[in-house]
Amino acid sequence: MDAERLARTLQARGEPKFRLAQILEAVYKRGASSYAEITSLPAPLREALGPAAPILSLTERRVLVSKDGRARKAALALADGLAIEAVLLKPKPGDAWSVCVSVQAGCAVGCTFCATGLMGLRRDLTSEEIVDQVLFWLQYLRREKVPGRITNVVYMGMGEPFHNYENVAESLRALTDPARAGLAQRHVAVSTSGLAPGIDRFADDFPQVSLALSLHAANDELRTKLVPVNKAYPLAKLAASVRKYLDKTNRRLFLEYVLLSGENDAPKHADELASFVRRVGKPHLVHVNLIVWNPTRTAHAPSSAANARAFKARLEESGLSVTIRKNLGQDIQGACGQLIQ
Ligand code: SAH
Ligand code: SF4
Repeated sequence: MDAERLARTLQARGEPKFRLAQILEAVYKRGASSYAEITSLPAPLREALGPAAPILSLTERRVLVSKDGRARKAALALADGLAIEAVLLKPKPGDAWSVCVSVQAGCAVGCTFCATGLMGLRRDLTSEEIVDQVLFWLQYLRREKVPGRITNVVYMGMGEPFHNYENVAESLRALTDPARAGLAQRHVAVSTSGLAPGIDRFADDFPQVSLALSLHAANDELRTKLVPVNKAYPLAKLAASVRKYLDKTNRRLFLEYVLLSGENDAPKHADELASFVRRVGKPHLVHVNLIVWNPTRTAHAPSSAANARAFKARLEESGLSVTIRKNLGQDIQGACGQLIQ
């Protein structure tokens, strides 16, 4: 929903001020999927708004549901015919859902282990297209009578958020605006492949929103191979930005590390990671998420469970706090790094 367009439309029609709040409430909080459902509006207004200020900028192509019911993946068509994917996840038992949004169709970073990276970049999403992925799932829960509510949004779908900074920033404002989606800032997390200037800006603009950094290797040679953007922003630069981020926000930072068998999962890699954390200071604010690699059509293999446990133990011996992240949605190709058009 383009809230500004809606506001302009209402104003041009000379509608009273409270109408805007009334509609935003119905769309962002209650998941109304058409103006016809907002029965508190006068009928002529309901009819006029449909074409003048559409509620969603994207349409559903299909939804897949994982066997365990804890992950659902939607393929969504954009107005220009491109498609993106957005995922609904239940990380813990209970009634809280997380939405994983895409910020670009494709991605220019080209991490070698990621399906999205293989596509290259098609285009940036608008802030409306980013927010509408959350609205889509809100409407879906209601329509399918799935119990629970959306409490968290993670920017971990397709694309690099800091390559599309302005639109991501605008979407964050919409999702955390009490008059619109009203999510708690701490319940929103953005994941970056390590664009140092983006991290600096983000620390200034959104000190309360969570940040995850996809590190994957803590020596420059290996990291440049896996995450090519490391060439432009090598570890020394990244460490400086992370240090500034921690100083400024005093917030917990998540380091994402996908374990690739025989590539970045040896004890020496764990030691390099621990020394990176020491370099940025404030190790108590850093939490390492070890990710088991989700298969994509690339020449990598996931580390064994035993190897992952050993890697975790080695990091813990260095005093780091570490989790091995559970993978939801692998059976529907909806897990991290498996999203494609
Ligand atoms: N583009 C952003 C956010 C999206 S990806 C980023 O890279 O941070 C979310 C996480 O999944 C990142 O840490 C990413 O590196 C990781 N990832 C990518 N491909 C993966 C795969 N095949 N298996 C597991 N994790 C993967
Ligand atoms: Fe892009 Fe993230 Fe995939 Fe890397 S892991 S190619 S940054 S989406």
